[in-house]
Amino acid sequence: MPDDPSKTTNTGTDPAGWSVDVDPARPGEDRVLVVVDVQNDFCPGGALAVPGGDEVPAVINELSRQFDHVILTQDWHPAGHLSFASSHPGARPFATVELPYGPQVLWPDHCVQDTEGARFHPGLAVRNCELIVRKGYRREVDSYSAFRDNDRRSPTGLAGYLRERGLRRLFVVGLATDFCVAYTALDARRLGFEVTVIEAGCRAIDLDGSLGAAWEQMEEAGVMRG
Ligand SMILES: [Zn+2]
Repeated sequence: MPDDPSKTTNTGTDPAGWSVDVDPARPGEDRVLVVVDVQNDFCPGGALAVPGGDEVPAVINELSRQFDHVILTQDWHPAGHLSFASSHPGARPFATVELPYGPQVLWPDHCVQDTEGARFHPGLAVRNCELIVRKGYRREVDSYSAFRDNDRRSPTGLAGYLRERGLRRLFVVGLATDFCVAYTALDARRLGFEVTVIEAGCRAIDLDGSLGAAWEQMEEAGVMRG
């Protein structure tokens, strides 16, 4: 435990040393851990593996014990999803194309509904998860953010859920830092939530400097780095 229990502390990558604040003036009921896309396809051996992705479940399991509220998100695409390079003849994974809602990175087929790749990593053991938000289930639109699709129009309903439950302080972890974690954190700030991204519980893809760019945007938006 930190010397001053009112402070949020991060002692690096040791999850046991990470502690959220316990200031009695700010009770923990308004805090929520948002676990982004810790699924087989985003871990080594999966279709869109994030380096070190399989290291986050143990960190997240430990962190989840410090929260009364935990939400998981799950990338959940129909086969033939437009974010897949295989849906664009001649296109290669990791290229960028223009879709009606703007630029879209093309990915290898991943997290297809009800497949092994879409399931949560078997090491993830978050007993107190109270909600699973699925996203990316409309064929024509990708969804990095847990709050809305990449067309920036279609909400997932998560903001309403959080508001109705009085959950105002979000602590975000998961895969990948520079895509779904960052988009989720940025949207949460736009919607007026307090947001901390806990780096020990995240891993990045870092495509052409995307990790640095994501952190720059998050810091500008007032996302705290834990
Ligand atoms: Zn996806």
